[in-house]
Amino acid sequence: MDSHQSVLKNLEIIRTNILEACKKGNRNPDEVKVIGVTKYVSTKRASEALTAGITHLGENREEGLLAKQEELHGEPIWHFIGSLQSKKVKKIIKNVDYIHSLDRESLAKELHKRAEHIIKCFVQVNVSQEESKHGLLKEEALNFIKKLEKYPNIKVVGLMTMAPYTDDEEVLRFTFRELRVLKEKIQAWNLPYAPCTELSMGMSNDYMIAIEEGATFIRIGSALVGNEQ
Ligand SMILES: *Cc1c(COP(=O)(O)O)cnc(C)c1O
Repeated sequence: MDSHQSVLKNLEIIRTNILEACKKGNRNPDEVKVIGVTKYVSTKRASEALTAGITHLGENREEGLLAKQEELHGEPIWHFIGSLQSKKVKKIIKNVDYIHSLDRESLAKELHKRAEHIIKCFVQVNVSQEESKHGLLKEEALNFIKKLEKYPNIKVVGLMTMAPYTDDEEVLRFTFRELRVLKEKIQAWNLPYAPCTELSMGMSNDYMIAIEEGATFIRIGSALVGNEQ
């Protein structure tokens, strides 16, 4: 992807694709929010995304998040999408609106302890069971969410997954569908601390399939802002 293509043009293409995927999946496009992932690019490029109309930004490291927040004007909604060490919670908790990588009780405990208001979290699930991936296995995720009642500063707004790196549509579709089924199971529990209405899934190479399968937040980096690294 050419990093110098305008973010606005890229966003127009993405929006067209979102509409197409929504049509195919019989979805309302208003339910799909784009998180602009700016981890590969400069603050200047990130600010172009805001100018183009992006309102949600995502970073996967504390350093990138804090640096961009300091320099960026406007007030995007911030998503922390990377794996999070407990010792870094204190530094980022005031600066993020959503955390996409809740995957263990020690992290829940730390988030609960440091939170000054309710923190919106996604529980990260390793649907594809790849060893290299973070996140809980499906069964573990169910048990984990039951345990979160002890940490009332945490609200489980939904589930997040990263699909395997593949072009195989069936594999991708299966992964996203499994996450949706799991979400529906948790939603049916009607837990006040875990409404679990959202699905954070789909990246530059697979977001259309993710939308067809129910994504409400797609995390788009290279297809939106390019990759300067
Ligand atoms: C980097 C990253 C993305 C965006 O990746 P692209 O393929 O460039 O769209 C999405 N989600 C997570 C968790 C990431 O780390």
